Amino acid sequence: MERFDVLVLGGGPAGLAAALAAEEQGACVCLLEREARLGGILKQCIHDGFGLLRFGERLTGPEYADNYIRLLGGRNIAVRLRSFVTSLEKSGGGFAVTYTSRGGLHRLEAGALVLATGCRERTARQIFVHGDKPAGVYTAGTAQHLVNLQGVLPTRRCVILGSGDIGLIMARRLTLEGAEVEGVYEAKPEPSGLSRNIRQCLTDFGIPLHLSHTVTRVLGEGRVEAVETARVDERMKPVPGSERLVPCDALILSVGLIPENELAESLGIPLDPHTKGPAVDARFETDCPGVFCCGNAVQVHDLVDYVSEGAATAGRCAALRALGKEAAPAPALPVEYGREFVSVLPQRLRPGNEPAACYFRVAETRGPTRLVVSQGGAVLLQKSYRRLRPPEMERVSLRPGGSGPVVFRLEDAAEKAQNGPAAAPL
Ligand SMILES: Cc1cc2nc3c(=O)[nH]c(=O)nc-3n(C[C@H](O)[C@H](O)[C@H](O)COP(=O)(O)OP(=O)(O)OC[C@H]3O[C@@H](n4cnc5c(N)ncnc54)[C@H](O)[C@@H]3O)c2cc1C
Repeated sequence: MERFDVLVLGGGPAGLAAALAAEEQGACVCLLEREARLGGILKQCIHDGFGLLRFGERLTGPEYADNYIRLLGGRNIAVRLRSFVTSLEKSGGGFAVTYTSRGGLHRLEAGALVLATGCRERTARQIFVHGDKPAGVYTAGTAQHLVNLQGVLPTRRCVILGSGDIGLIMARRLTLEGAEVEGVYEAKPEPSGLSRNIRQCLTDFGIPLHLSHTVTRVLGEGRVEAVETARVDERMKPVPGSERLVPCDALILSVGLIPENELAESLGIPLDPHTKGPAVDARFETDCPGVFCCGNAVQVHDLVDYVSEGAATAGRCAALRALGKEAAPAPALPVEYGREFVSVLPQRLRPGNEPAACYFRVAETRGPTRLVVSQGGAVLLQKSYRRLRPPEMERVSLRPGGSGPVVFRLEDAAEKAQNGPAAAPL
């Protein structure tokens, strides 16, 4: 059976960065991608805004991906397209992988795996919209694929449910293509997408954002003819009497993304209920030694630059592991945090000299805030923020010491200034 040092699953920005970093360590690498082209979700993101941190310029999604794809030439990386991984098993000192491709089922072996399979969109099935099931209900990513890659306009007049970034970007895209976007409806009292997308995709195009509103019913025979919207109370329940019928031919859903992890689960790797991806350490290694996970598969990212950064670490560490060049890792230190956070990644750190990148999201929008990270009573890091919002993933760098959990805490900076030592300048 064919054998590689490192097998990378998925050819999006995470898989590309991981494969290149693994090969740079001298590993013999194979990258399997189920689609006909590399680039993952970036292929359909033709708007700009990618790469500000990584390349210092505003690139479109395909341009960002192309910067990595061009680097593959001449490397010891076997790229296999139209290759869909169907199963993983532990085998000897490594893993046996089965994938379908032209010619049927194939098997190969690898010393280490990097899972870079991205995420999928939540659909109408997961949000309980009542009514008929006519044609014309799309996820925002499907609508984006139709418009940007297939050249098909799926609507003349639509309603968008959910204010996630893909929905906001599609509100602008559909408007530019001549469709009317009646409005974006968001059940929460504040938008889920990045502030810059609210401004550039809705405000600049005069598209209304209806906060604390949802879609309660879809109506239409064969094709969507209207949707019923309603205001929701603080428990997200529709308020009787606030219903409104909105004529339209499509409902576009932008109601969240879920990391794609069936393959990780098939190896018995536990998922973190906060990130919905496998728990990892700062090397992006999961609880299953030799299996690394990165990009949107480990946690949904809003910036591709952070995807590439983390994936390069995962690829490098997978190669060192497969080549037997890795020193035995120091014992893991658990990362602890309270309800003021949605998540902190990684879920465990290890003492060492190299600073570890950590990413966090807050549970609610906050004004002036200080992040304090401590271990055994010693403060490892303090950082002040003017504002923190749940959609925006923040990054800090830490170097934890010998033992004990690493604790993340948020303090109201203004309160701290009154009650204790003066807050650092924001
Ligand atoms: C609409 C939209 C707009 C965005 N806008 C921005 C922006 O302006 N700026 C920014 O920085 N970021 C943006 N992002 C975020 C960024 O694009 C993503 O975080 C990034 O693309 C995730 O990369 P990934 O490689 O983890 O996943 P993906 O790009 O989804 O790649 C995963 C790959 O794995 C493959 N795969 C999955 N399962 C298998 C399997 N079993 N076998 C083989 N292959 C498999 C898939 O086909 C896919 O190619 C945006 C994202 C979206 C969706």
